[in-house]
Amino acid sequence: MTKVKEHWRIATKAIHGFGGGDAATGAISLPIYQTSTYQFRDSQHGADLFNGEADGYIYSRISNPTVDAFQREIACLEGGEAAQALGSGMAASFNAIMTDCKSGDSYISSETVYGGTHALTDHVMPRFGVTGIEVDFTDLNVVEDAIKKAKNPKVLFFETPANPTLAILDIKALAELGHKHGLTVVVDNTFATPILQRPLEYGVDVVMHSATKYIGGHGDVVAGCVVGKQEYIDRLRNDVYIDTGATMAPLNAWLLLRGLKTLPIRMKAHCENAMKIAQFLVFHPKVKVVHYPGLSSNTGHELAKRQMSGFGGMIAFEIDGGFEEGKKLMDAVELAKVAVSLGDCDTLVCHPASTTHSTYEKTVREKAGIKDNLIRLSVGIEDPADIMDDLNQALRVL
Ligand SMILES: *Cc1c(COP(=O)(O)O)cnc(C)c1O
Repeated sequence: MTKVKEHWRIATKAIHGFGGGDAATGAISLPIYQTSTYQFRDSQHGADLFNGEADGYIYSRISNPTVDAFQREIACLEGGEAAQALGSGMAASFNAIMTDCKSGDSYISSETVYGGTHALTDHVMPRFGVTGIEVDFTDLNVVEDAIKKAKNPKVLFFETPANPTLAILDIKALAELGHKHGLTVVVDNTFATPILQRPLEYGVDVVMHSATKYIGGHGDVVAGCVVGKQEYIDRLRNDVYIDTGATMAPLNAWLLLRGLKTLPIRMKAHCENAMKIAQFLVFHPKVKVVHYPGLSSNTGHELAKRQMSGFGGMIAFEIDGGFEEGKKLMDAVELAKVAVSLGDCDTLVCHPASTTHSTYEKTVREKAGIKDNLIRLSVGIEDPADIMDDLNQALRVL
C-alpha cells in the first residue's frame, strides 16, 4: 500500500492517488473484486456493519473495493474530500442535482450543456416536480436574475468548457454568485478533466464527470462520478444513490483506474494535437469560425488561461454551409470516426444539429450557439499530420 502525500504533483497522484494495490495480496494492479455480496464473519459482524459500528463491505451496490479505489483516486485528483462513482455521467448529474433538490425546488443550469443534461432538465426533472431553468451563464446578471426569480432555487449547474460550443465560463465568479444566494454550485468537469482544471480550487462545491470520456480515455466504458465534501457525498449516498442504484461495475472501476494513470500524458497529447488542428482549421477556406479556447482570438481565451492549465482536446468549428453540408462532411472523413462521445485516443467527429442536439427545438439550439453548420471534433492522439490530412480531404468535398 502507498501512503499518499498531499504535496505530490498531479501526474504522481494520477498513478498512486488511490493508495496502492491490494493490501491482502500485495498485487500492484488492484484486483477486480467481481462480487455482489460479502460474507459476514458472524451474526454480530453483520449487525455491526448494518448499524455502522463496523466498517466493511455489505453489498456491491453500497460499496465495492475496486470502486472505492477509483473513488479515492478521483477525489485525490480533484482535491475533494470524497467521491461517489456512478454508472454513467447522466447518473452523476441526476444524483448531484437531486441531492439538494426535492419536489417544489428548482435549479439554474447553463443553457449550453451536454444534450443529455438538457433532456434531463427539459423532460425528466419536471416529472419529479423539480424545475430546471436554463439561461446564458456567460452573463452573470442574467444568472442572478434567474436565481432571484426562481422558486426555491437550490443548485447552480454548469459545464466549462461547454459542450459543444467550447464556451468558457468564469468558475470563480459563478461560485461566488451561487454562494451569495445559498446555492450548491456543481460543475461538470468532463471536458477539462482534473489535469487541466480543478473547479473545487475556485470555490465550487461539487464536481461531476462523465468518466466515459477522457478519464476512461479508450472508449470502452460508460461511467460517471461526483466529487465533493464528505458531508455532501454522504447525503448523495443516503438520499439518492444507494436506493436508486446507478452503480458502477467493478470492472469499469478497474478500467478507469488504468485510464487515470495515463490521463496526464494523454491530456498533454490531446492539447498539443488540438492546438495544431485548430490553427490549421482557422486558415481553411471551407471553415468560417473555429471555437477553441487555445486560440488567442477566442472570446474565452483569457479566462481559460486563468482557470485551466491547458486548453483541452475539443474543438468546435463552423463550416461554409448548413445542415446538409454538415452531414456531407460526416460522410467524407476517413480517419476520424463519425461518432458521439469524446475523449478517446481515436479522433471522433460529430454534427450536433443532426445528432446529439437534435432533441433541442431549433430556436433553443441556435440560442445556445449550436448552429446547423457546427461540427464538434474530439481530437485524438494519433499523429496530428494524419488528422489534418483527413480533415483537409473531407473539407474539399464541400
Ligand atoms: C457524455 C457527457 C455527459 C453524460 O455522460 P454519460 O457517461 O454518457 O452518461 C455529461 N456531460 C458531458 C459534458 C458529457 O460529455
